[in-house]
Amino acid sequence: MTVAEMRRTYLSKATEALQPSVTEEVDNEVKRMRQNGIDDIVSLGVGEPGFDTPDHIKQATIRALMRGETSYQPTKGAFALREAISAKLDAENDVKADPEDIIVTAGGKFAIYLAFQATLEKGDKVLLLDPAWVSYESAAQMAGADVIRVPSVPQNGFKPDLENIKGAIEPGVKIIVVNSPCNPTGAVFPRDTIRQLAELAGDNQALLLSDEVYEYQLYEGQHYSAASDFDNVITVNAFSKSYAMTGWRLGYATGPKDVLEGMLKIYQHSTSCVTAFAQYGALDALTNEASKKVVEMMQDTYRVRRDLMTDLIKKSEFLKLGCVPEGAFYCFVAYNVNLPSFDLAKRLLQKAHVATVPGVAFGKCGEDHLRLSYAASEEDIREAFRRMEHYFRKIK
Ligand code: GLU
Repeated sequence: MTVAEMRRTYLSKATEALQPSVTEEVDNEVKRMRQNGIDDIVSLGVGEPGFDTPDHIKQATIRALMRGETSYQPTKGAFALREAISAKLDAENDVKADPEDIIVTAGGKFAIYLAFQATLEKGDKVLLLDPAWVSYESAAQMAGADVIRVPSVPQNGFKPDLENIKGAIEPGVKIIVVNSPCNPTGAVFPRDTIRQLAELAGDNQALLLSDEVYEYQLYEGQHYSAASDFDNVITVNAFSKSYAMTGWRLGYATGPKDVLEGMLKIYQHSTSCVTAFAQYGALDALTNEASKKVVEMMQDTYRVRRDLMTDLIKKSEFLKLGCVPEGAFYCFVAYNVNLPSFDLAKRLLQKAHVATVPGVAFGKCGEDHLRLSYAASEEDIREAFRRMEHYFRKIK
């Protein structure tokens, strides 16, 4: 046997144990299939605005690029951008964050990664509400921590069950993650519930990580930022969903000073800063009046698409919606086809050319569900449902 044959893998055990991101895998597979000439795929898979970045943001970025914004920026982000984020947090979220206490990151995902890396170690636990977005658990795992999952159920509108959460708190819980509006369920958590979760975290010397990236995709209720009232909160937000800027990789975080200092050290040694000229696009997104109209237009459009999708689900004999999403742009639907969600999503993509995300990717509670994104166009949503219904009938 050669040395190469004897070698099992170059990977560390920790990396070997890591699961790929299912949302990314679905999207990568869609792109691979398209690259291979399959041009009729309809994607309700990866969660991504069904719009291009607004022109005024692109133009501001081009201007920044042409005037030479091509050098390193401060690791925390360009001063002007952090000032604009600080003003936004104050005006819209009632969160007081000095520009020095804001870190601009490569998407909200990197902010979460940094926050977990900076605060967690072996023996620590992160409390997640199941179903939860795919990367929280892996981010905790990469920091050496474990995860506790507390189910949220459709009967309760997928809202957090405080009694169950209190019962699940155990020594070592260092972070409670709140994601409202929620990916994948679309639930918007009541202000009081979020407050009680922040208090619960505080009583246990823990942090609340508030992932607010779907803040602007809100159709019912009001957005509440826990950091407006509590200081044990890491707030994460991003430009991706708010301004249709997913590919730009721009997010930000604010939180307790020591946490930010820790995050900054890891950031300095890993990425240095976010692409300079892209940051000036983000600045324009926050400061150009034209953004307001675009944000409103996108929200109105998603609402129409949500109503269309919920209608199509109601008419389906195969799909059942636990509760109508109040925010984000996903329907988390149960199905009555006898297949695990992973297999069903795979077959839908391969056989019907419809991309969805298997519910189990979001935790055990998500099994027998699919996540369907209604950021897609109305035409695509209708076509996807036609094909899914046809396929379900065929395999039933
Ligand atoms: N958050 C989006 C989703 O859940 C983007 C993909 C990802 O970052 O996981 O589809």
